[in-house]
Amino acid sequence: MSKRSTIDTEFAARARAGHAGVWLALCAIIVVLAAGCPVSAPTIPLPRGVKGGPAPVNTGETKTSFYTFDQILNTLAAWQQTYGPKGANLAKVVKIGESWEGRPIYAIKISKDADQTDANTPDILVTGGVHSCEWAGIETVMHMAKHLLEDYKKDDYVRYTVDNSEIWIVPVVNPDGLVYSRAKDDNEHRLWRKNRHPLPDGHVGVDLNRGYPYKWRLEGDDPRKSSDDAGGSDDPASRNYRGEADPSDPSKPKVIEKEIRGLIDLVDNPEHRFVLFLDYHSFSEVILYPYGYVRERMQKDFDTYEFLASGMTGLINRNRGLLSIAQKLTGDLGDVGSRYSYSQASMLYLEVTTGSGIDFYYGARGIISLGIEVSPAFTIRRFTYGAGFMIDPREIVPIGAENFHAFLFAADWAIGPPYVKETVVEQDGRAAFHSMQKPDEDLRAQVNTNKLAKGEAAVKLVFSKPMILPPERRIVSEKDEGVTTLKLVDTAGRLHRFIGPGYWTKTTYDGDTFVGVVSVFADSTFDFARGAVIYTASDGIGFVPDLDPSTPPVYMAGEGLWLNYERDRYSRSPVNGAELAGAAEERRETPAVPEGGGRPGSD
Ligand SMILES: [Zn+2]
Repeated sequence: MSKRSTIDTEFAARARAGHAGVWLALCAIIVVLAAGCPVSAPTIPLPRGVKGGPAPVNTGETKTSFYTFDQILNTLAAWQQTYGPKGANLAKVVKIGESWEGRPIYAIKISKDADQTDANTPDILVTGGVHSCEWAGIETVMHMAKHLLEDYKKDDYVRYTVDNSEIWIVPVVNPDGLVYSRAKDDNEHRLWRKNRHPLPDGHVGVDLNRGYPYKWRLEGDDPRKSSDDAGGSDDPASRNYRGEADPSDPSKPKVIEKEIRGLIDLVDNPEHRFVLFLDYHSFSEVILYPYGYVRERMQKDFDTYEFLASGMTGLINRNRGLLSIAQKLTGDLGDVGSRYSYSQASMLYLEVTTGSGIDFYYGARGIISLGIEVSPAFTIRRFTYGAGFMIDPREIVPIGAENFHAFLFAADWAIGPPYVKETVVEQDGRAAFHSMQKPDEDLRAQVNTNKLAKGEAAVKLVFSKPMILPPERRIVSEKDEGVTTLKLVDTAGRLHRFIGPGYWTKTTYDGDTFVGVVSVFADSTFDFARGAVIYTASDGIGFVPDLDPSTPPVYMAGEGLWLNYERDRYSRSPVNGAELAGAAEERRETPAVPEGGGRPGSD
């Protein structure tokens, strides 16, 4: 087996090199786009705590274009009607909690046979509206639910995603805040961020993304004053108020804010196996991963986060790139789309964040967790207090669409590695070998040559996934990149010359099926009656050879190669937050945040 590990390393290196090339090219494009970004003069930010006041700078927002809370409830009810257990059975609307003012908090679970629960199927949690002024995030997750349901029949990839996961979308985590933010057009209402928890001192609201029971208040941050606040505020008037008492104190379980209790209960339900959490906010066009509470980067899952965050930003940017160039040239929607970047959460705001959702679900529950700040981009114009929360209604669908692509990519990872379901070797139209595999089985495809002769043979592999997007994720490219070799061995384990340079003479990849044609021209010492063809494969890349004929060939699409995906890992086990490694890197692919950061709570 020692040969195999060498090959694994080689393949991993090639995989990384391949990705690096793609991302380098993307970076180059992004730098060009960023340079052309229009910047308007800033206006004066509204001081904190001011009641009433003028309407926020409106960049074309039309209130009626955005979902009200009631419209969301009606839409969920309509989906339940059409797609619920009495309809297509792709959706089930579940009440998971209640707000301080008694409004229901709903999740729509989207999966095949939605009324059934399978603890083995990976669960994905998607939230919007944690911060009530961030309407674009709510629109984005509603768009996601709509398209998962409506495109199920016509889109293979959507169908694959829904069939192989249980997706829980909570469009409005903070319904009281949403209702409040729509009640009046002044700053006090429209930019309301927190929940509507009435506090003892007369102030209202806790920042739900600072109130999770994980790294809630850092050591040395004095609860009695707010001048030393780090990552969240001890001032009830602050938009980032973290709440009255430590929610992780086991003697006071009720101090966890009502709006997030239901989410935590859902994740902790042993009937489910949550592997991915995506929290949609606005604004900044950036994808964030843990931790927020500390500047050092985590050790354990760094590669996974890099893969997911870079893949998602890459898909979004590719999707909107050309459109945005046109928009920039015409001055239309100038700072929206095409410039998403990614970074560790603590690098975004020039300060850390404590008690956040992504830190909790990752640090305390072991779930890979990402925060997505949708459009617009962070520009000087949008830096104006509140302006970034206002979007032109024409932006709603493009933002939803580009983030839907990115969601499918992340869900693909969550569903797990591909495996070969079926192997066929044919020669002259006759099957020389045929086998079926189960997900957890290694591919054992040793094809005895007694049914083969000199000449062309086709090796057909049917995978468990339609590898539709993105292109670099296809199992085998048509250029044979990744295909390494097939070997012809005799019973003594001697290798024989078998196939010409390039290994496959022809390959095709269509949907879930790969076909590689080999030319068998064994040397004269080879006895077809007693030999075997051995091959093996590596996920995401292609095939790796098993050079040791004494062991059966093994399909290498193992979980270890699926970017740290481990089927048994996500059992609600905490990640050791102490495993930190060095300084986190600055955000990728975008210009630095202007000086004077500390934006008014846009995450
Ligand atoms: Zn937010």
